[in-house]
Amino acid sequence: MHLSFLKYIILLPIVILLINATAFGQREKPLVVATASIFADMVSAIGDTLVESASVVPIGGDPHIYEPTPRDIRLLAKADLIVKNGLTFEGWISDLINNSGSAAPVKTLTEGITPITSEAHQNATDPHAWMDPVNGKMYATNIKEALIELLPAHQDVIQNQYEKYIRQLDSLDQYIREQISTIEPAKRILITSHDAFHYYGKRYGLRLESLLGTSTDADVRTSDMMRINQVIREQQIPVLFAESTINPKMFEQVAKDNKITIGGKLYSDSLGDKDSPADTYLNMVRSNTDVIVSGLTSSVNPATDTAEDSSTRIVMIIGILFCLTALIFYLWRKRLFTV
Ligand SMILES: [Zn+2]
Repeated sequence: MHLSFLKYIILLPIVILLINATAFGQREKPLVVATASIFADMVSAIGDTLVESASVVPIGGDPHIYEPTPRDIRLLAKADLIVKNGLTFEGWISDLINNSGSAAPVKTLTEGITPITSEAHQNATDPHAWMDPVNGKMYATNIKEALIELLPAHQDVIQNQYEKYIRQLDSLDQYIREQISTIEPAKRILITSHDAFHYYGKRYGLRLESLLGTSTDADVRTSDMMRINQVIREQQIPVLFAESTINPKMFEQVAKDNKITIGGKLYSDSLGDKDSPADTYLNMVRSNTDVIVSGLTSSVNPATDTAEDSSTRIVMIIGILFCLTALIFYLWRKRLFTV
């Protein structure tokens, strides 16, 4: 009796592993689990109908501070391939994989990319390499290689899908270059809530400033607040840009204090939902570009048109009208006297 219980204890993990190993055989399509929605979308674009893809962090969630749930453990246990960004983006993934017992291969999508380190934020490695679509091509290459290893019989289809995706990324890169060139060079300054746009800025020649560092798990420091206020004043920045995964409260206060506006919403660490302009990775980068260009090329600075300024203008107009009336009355009286 005692011996059979021991056998059970020894055999259980082996049974779990076997169930995991044969799960793909029973399912029609292999399941690729990505840490975030952006990478799950890239997998769908290249794997097309050959794979199912799923994201651990849901749309709108913040991967920097994500806390995995029991559902994620079940999802990872079913995975045939796991893809992650790396560069400290999803610090929770190793524990999650261990807890799930998954033996699926893990592909790091930033392999082959030279990371940026953020000097302003204690030399932290910047994980947001996907924000530059030229880096996006390296993500696509890594995904293609992992998918071909998973489905060698479908190599040709995967290769075709991959080449089509690379062409789309090339035209997106061209589109961004053309759009950014319409912004006056002195105005190419992008202020965002957290430091997610360095790869994008480096590629397309934008200066970057942000309230938070490359992660979102720290509090805003007074020195960062002062630095941002100074940049806004000195460079006469007309707009700030909020991000979809970050609470805009603090950022709205900065805009209010400086009497400027939020120029629109950018997507950095998550896709938007299906009805948003950022429902895919390609659309997300394109939408960000449109929002940035529209904000930084706005000829009228909405900040100058505050209620306070409007009332001052009205008082001035009334004053001028009053003076004019008085002058006309005086001239009329004078003519009366001379008649
Ligand atoms: Zn981020």
